[in-house]
Amino acid sequence: MKLREIINKIFLIEIFKGLFLTLRMLFSKPVTIQYPFQRRKIYPGFRGRHALVRDPFTGDGKCIGCMRCTTVCPSRCIYIKREKTENKMIVTDYVIDASRCIFCAYCVEACPVCALVLTEDFEYSDYMRKNLIFNKEQLLKNWDEFASKWPHDVYFNKFWQPPGIDPSRWPKTKREQKPIPIKRFIEIKKEESDESSR
Ligand code: SF4
Ligand code: SF4
Repeated sequence: MKLREIINKIFLIEIFKGLFLTLRMLFSKPVTIQYPFQRRKIYPGFRGRHALVRDPFTGDGKCIGCMRCTTVCPSRCIYIKREKTENKMIVTDYVIDASRCIFCAYCVEACPVCALVLTEDFEYSDYMRKNLIFNKEQLLKNWDEFASKWPHDVYFNKFWQPPGIDPSRWPKTKREQKPIPIKRFIEIKKEESDESSR
């Protein structure tokens, strides 16, 4: 054993070093926050709970059943049921298994009509796996919940413009960059309930 190690052992140097570090940390600014009483700012591009965007005028989902999201999803966690009528594709069910999702947002980027978003809601943990499997009805409800809390009249999909791809190669709908009018459907619903209560 070297002399320095012997001195360290006799005078408990390492213990004093540890105590000094603890004392220093007592007076430094904490890096953690008191969640849920304090909340961190959500930054643009946050990928939270999935939602199907409602058409602000019809109230139904905007999904046209093109299947691009299911094709691109690396986790294979999107399932779509659709029916073909004479001139239209009808999406009868749309399911996302959020417990398998890796939140890559490829589905959102691939959607040509901005029908799917990853909202800024993140408090949806559950003890039951089945509650993390969102069907169409639940996905539309997720949108309503998100929209009712959103402070602005429009929502601009952060992944609407896929990065790294020449904009001339985007579909026309993506180049036009239309924001989603978020309050319109809520206003229609409110007007309807006001009328029925009269
Ligand atoms: S975010 Fe990624 S993993 Fe999740 S559903 Fe979309 S494509 Fe699939
Ligand atoms: S890519 Fe968009 S429009 Fe196509 S099936 Fe998926 S959510 Fe629907």
